[in-house]
Amino acid sequence: MDKPPLTKSEPDEHGHWGKFGGRYVPETLVAPLDELTSEFMRAREQSDFWAELNQLLRDYCGRPTPLFHAQRLTAHAGGAQIYLKREDLLHTGAHKINNAMGQVLLARRMGKHRIIAETGAGQHGVATATVCALFGLRCVIYMGAEDAQRQALNVFRMRLLGAEVVTVNAGTRTLKDAINEALRDWVTNVHDTYYLLGSALGPHPYPLMVREFQTVIGREAREQILSVTGKLPRALIACVGGGSNAIGLFHPFIASEKVRLIGVEAAGRGDSLGEHAARFHSGAASGGGHVGVLQGTMSYVLQDANGQIATTHSISAGLDYSAIGPEHAFLRDCGRAEYTRASDAEALEGFRLCAKLEGIIPALETAHAILPAICIARDLARDDSIIVNLSGRGDKDVQLVADLHSE
Ligand SMILES: *Cc1c(COP(=O)(O)O)cnc(C)c1O
Repeated sequence: MDKPPLTKSEPDEHGHWGKFGGRYVPETLVAPLDELTSEFMRAREQSDFWAELNQLLRDYCGRPTPLFHAQRLTAHAGGAQIYLKREDLLHTGAHKINNAMGQVLLARRMGKHRIIAETGAGQHGVATATVCALFGLRCVIYMGAEDAQRQALNVFRMRLLGAEVVTVNAGTRTLKDAINEALRDWVTNVHDTYYLLGSALGPHPYPLMVREFQTVIGREAREQILSVTGKLPRALIACVGGGSNAIGLFHPFIASEKVRLIGVEAAGRGDSLGEHAARFHSGAASGGGHVGVLQGTMSYVLQDANGQIATTHSISAGLDYSAIGPEHAFLRDCGRAEYTRASDAEALEGFRLCAKLEGIIPALETAHAILPAICIARDLARDDSIIVNLSGRGDKDVQLVADLHSE
């Protein structure tokens, strides 16, 4: 077994991975972010913090999640053995609760009893509302009005869990606008309020902190694959919205340089700007992603020739965002990780294949990773293995797919 991967992708003390990351925020947020950073860095070193978190991840969330040998998908691909890391089996149906649980424990340590969060599809909002209910904390969730309408059931879920859902009518009435509103709330109420960010994005320390709470995925997967196959997998594949489920799986393998790390972005319904959410794809017509700042961090951002943030499209709300987490930008530029794309149509095919061949209905986000995984497995030997992060379950998407059928 190779040595434990520790420092290969640690940012500097200001949260920079190379030129990416950092903290681009108004003056008023500097002190609260400093406070959060020192509190997190302290907790990170304390075994009682991790002991409390690990117990809740086990007893409340359902960890460890299984690593499942997907034999029919494997036979369909005709190559390497395909293993699925079953984050879909977690409480609330996706990996997001790993991060929400970690951050809520931090908020409690900091004496903050009001939690705010932003949500796109509602998955992060539901995870946050859930952990707030568990600890009896006040919870306010910001959601774009457009998203709230598309995801009415998740709005109802959050309210059932005791959260206040604030719909945002500014801008495109989607996630980007909800984040702005949440940041505004935080600036005003920072004395008693904790901002629980949902992906490996935003100003330092969020990208680092969210990664640390999600690496449980990769740590478990590494142990599980070694105990089943006796060797490391050839590749890891995960869909990338902001990048938290992917970095959580990748991170414990970064120092194992023979393991390919492959992220899958949303190619949406076309190549031109506004039709996809592939930040790393800079084709001729696409306008593509360029290095820029969005919501407090430096990374690849989809923008037009004037630097205006572009709108995005994906069939899955969780991948539908103009920026990607800064650590992914770093891993991509230094060549350690690769990023490919899957279109709406390919995601739908992956969705159906996974359901039919394995009896698992994946989230549409997750479904983006299925066809790329099949392609990669096909080129490898049968005694090799690959791991696909099954980031969430697809119950939330069944209606959407049914509506497509009836169109
Ligand atoms: C939110 C979500 C994603 C995308 O977010 P990341 O931070 O990129 O992981 C992917 N899959 C599921 C199931 C989600 O809910």
